[in-house]
Amino acid sequence: MGLKDGFSRIIDYMRVSVTDRCNLRCVYCMPDKGVPAVTHDDILRYEEITRIISVAAELGVRKIRITGGEPLFRRNVQSLIRDLKRLNAIDDLSLTTNGMLLERYAEELKDAGLNRVNVSLDSLRPERYREITCGGDLDTVMKGIEKALNIGLDPVKINMVPIRGMNDDEIEEFGRLTINTPYHVRFIEFMPVGNGSFYDENKRITTDEIKERIGVLGALEPVRVRKNGPAKYYMLPAAQGVIGFISGMTHHFCRDCSRLRLTADGKLRPCLFSETEIDLRSALRRGATDEELKRLLKLAVEVKPEGHYILEKEEGGRPMSRIGG
Ligand code: SAM
Ligand code: SF4
Repeated sequence: MGLKDGFSRIIDYMRVSVTDRCNLRCVYCMPDKGVPAVTHDDILRYEEITRIISVAAELGVRKIRITGGEPLFRRNVQSLIRDLKRLNAIDDLSLTTNGMLLERYAEELKDAGLNRVNVSLDSLRPERYREITCGGDLDTVMKGIEKALNIGLDPVKINMVPIRGMNDDEIEEFGRLTINTPYHVRFIEFMPVGNGSFYDENKRITTDEIKERIGVLGALEPVRVRKNGPAKYYMLPAAQGVIGFISGMTHHFCRDCSRLRLTADGKLRPCLFSETEIDLRSALRRGATDEELKRLLKLAVEVKPEGHYILEKEEGGRPMSRIGG
């Protein structure tokens, strides 16, 4: 069983945003004028999210990533994780976080059934980290990352978005992190979503350039990592961890896409870069049956585009924090 789209891709992964809100304001993510206010009622309740995921699981969705905004900023996300675990249908339950609240919640999340975490981290220098995130504390995040590793949220992935003139001089330092620790450090190409007034084509660094810069640390050997999705992984000689590249802009990212996205206000998005949305919240709240929800999920898969043309597109649409990165 499983959903197959019009381009023979198996869709078995759903990225679920639980909130638009965030305790940080990363300069490239949050629009300068902020994000439109969303009321409490607009946001899906945990029971509604669980219902959607249980129906999606019947259609073959096996991997769930909880995201936001900042997912740990929504109260009691552990209870959602616990309910999803109880469905007994999800093989891979993960969460993406900025790490500010990770040390506090890591154990509860693990106990609830979370398998692993991705932590977004764009600088290893406290002052710079504070500036990029408008107030984040690097030490707090590093403690969260260490805690996650120590309690077995495995693997711990660290996601860095290199941006020219902002943090690109730290690419090597991030690569070096994998030598003595088992982290999966992943470099994500900067994309024209989020804060449009910050985006500038010249700030974007391609995967090829990042790889070249990492090359000074030693030859990168390709490795296969289980459940690797669109990331391509490599290893430095004798390293404990691995280095991944997510090339949303330049390489064959769409070809390997297996995901749907559910926004915090209950819209199903077949593609990060397309404004097409299917309104599951309205369907749920007017009492849709499981069969009706399945039809909407199948529709989302049917209209999933083959690829994106983001570089040709006008700026607009939802920022990343409102889609769920
Ligand atoms: N708050 C959580 C966090 O920061 O991990 C989860 C949501 S955040 C929107 C998810 C990811 O989107 C982060 O890793 C962030 O770096 C990434 N992101 C946001 N805007 C981006 C952009 N314009 N280009 C590339 N990645 C972006
Ligand atoms: Fe918040 Fe994550 Fe966006 Fe930073 S990247 S502002 S932490 S949602």
